[in-house]
Amino acid sequence: MSVRKQLSRLGVALVRIKSGLTEGAAMECTHLDHIHKVKPSANGCEDCLKIGSTWVHLRMCMECGHVGCCDSSPNKHATKHFHKVKHPIMRSIEPGESWGWCYIDEVELDFS
Ligand SMILES: [Zn+2]
Ligand SMILES: [Zn+2]
Ligand SMILES: [Zn+2]
Repeated sequence: MSVRKQLSRLGVALVRIKSGLTEGAAMECTHLDHIHKVKPSANGCEDCLKIGSTWVHLRMCMECGHVGCCDSSPNKHATKHFHKVKHPIMRSIEPGESWGWCYIDEVELDFS
């Protein structure tokens, strides 16, 4: 069975390298075992709700379900969560969006 098929069996297919990196280089995320069946921890950015702040887009940690806000938000809680607890993979939980991101490998993942 091809690697690609095995990955899609895990519910993850490697899609493409984020533009700006070397084209054609087969970069892979080696942290797929950090992906668990998680549920969003809150209905909005957990940390923004605590401090009464607002966010732009929501991202969910695939390791623990922590919901944080994107880098366009003033507090960037999703990225802060990675730096704090080293959970490498998050996905967008915006309606209709199924992409994810590994902070360590800097590759985009497809959770569709
Ligand atoms: Zn990775
Ligand atoms: Zn936030
Ligand atoms: Zn986490």
